[in-house]
Amino acid sequence: MDIVDRFLKYVSFCTTSDENTNMTPSTPGQMEFAKFLADELKQIGLREVTLDKNGYIMATLPGNVQGDNLQSTQDIPTIGFIAHMDTSPDASGKHVKARIVKEYDGHDIVLNDKEGIVLETAKYPEILRYRGQDIIVTDGKTLLGADDKAGIAEIVTAMEYLVQHPEIKHGKIRVGFTPDEEIGQGADHFDVKAFGANWAYTMDGGAIGELEYENFNAASCKIRVHGVNVHPGSAYHKMQNSMRIAYQLAVMLPRWETPEHTQNYEGFYHLTGMSGTVEETTLSYIIRDHDRARFESRKREMEHLVRKVNREYGDGTAEIELRDQYYNMREKIEPVMHVVDLAKEAMKAVGVTPEVKPIRGGTDGARLSFEGLPCPNIFAGGENFHSRYEYLPIPSLVAAEQVILQIIQMAAK
Ligand SMILES: [Zn+2]
Repeated sequence: MDIVDRFLKYVSFCTTSDENTNMTPSTPGQMEFAKFLADELKQIGLREVTLDKNGYIMATLPGNVQGDNLQSTQDIPTIGFIAHMDTSPDASGKHVKARIVKEYDGHDIVLNDKEGIVLETAKYPEILRYRGQDIIVTDGKTLLGADDKAGIAEIVTAMEYLVQHPEIKHGKIRVGFTPDEEIGQGADHFDVKAFGANWAYTMDGGAIGELEYENFNAASCKIRVHGVNVHPGSAYHKMQNSMRIAYQLAVMLPRWETPEHTQNYEGFYHLTGMSGTVEETTLSYIIRDHDRARFESRKREMEHLVRKVNREYGDGTAEIELRDQYYNMREKIEPVMHVVDLAKEAMKAVGVTPEVKPIRGGTDGARLSFEGLPCPNIFAGGENFHSRYEYLPIPSLVAAEQVILQIIQMAAK
């Protein structure tokens, strides 16, 4: 099946995830899509196709190298390819009406004439990179879902190609599709042992060329400040206004170390919520840093500020709750750098320039890497993820499939 038709079929499923349902998968549409995919994987000839109750799909393309000359399938590492089935709750994923803009001419693209929704090159200049290409866009009312249905289409199409071309020799390949990545739960029920790959790649990056093996170390931090409320007329030396104390604590943090003032490898403290009364105030932060030592010292700094407040206002005035969320996969990838090098070489072999950059966030691959499955991230090809302005240049989609095929062939040599 043509990769574009396959992708367009996939985006017709509504698979928006939802962090409030306390179910896995978090929404029924994901299970519907999972059933469709599991059937398709069987139809194209993959083996050991499993779909578990949490909506995780695994499948195998058996190796086809005979032990006649130098090597057999056992000598070739088992490589996995992973993508996620859900789409971000940040934009609607219902009734996606995708459309192909043929040979994009470099002008603004009117996504929705009736409602005047336009993809403007002034706001999204990256699109000029794709001049002359066929580009899949939305009708401006929903996201497209290239994140990450492009990844799924690339993997499935590559597997179909290999089944149909047994003359291409390869080792055992494992395929994994997960639910609920967008709500941070994609790795929660992923059975690394059952997957049984030496390493894997998530096909979940953005623009063509993206290759990522570094992400943030991440923690959440909640600070509760307790105050004392008294009638303001008789508050002298009695009232302790928890909001003012919380504010005092917040401004002690380095002023420029916030998401809006940092980039590349710079870490930050991000105040994600504050709510309070005189009696009690809560500050919610997330802490991010690529460097593990700096990450740890950011957490110590938070604790230090809480102690400071308690020295001034009395023990127990402020309480802190720190929780690590995920870690930078770099420390797990560096000992197996050939995994990244292979992806780089594969890209170059199909004419794609690898663009390695640190992720300012996390990936499922980061968590899987810490569970023993080294898992860098490769581009899926789309742009403007999580947005109504999401689009997917078809040559990027095709290139990602080519990269998968190239990795598999290079690993067999
Ligand atoms: Zn994604």
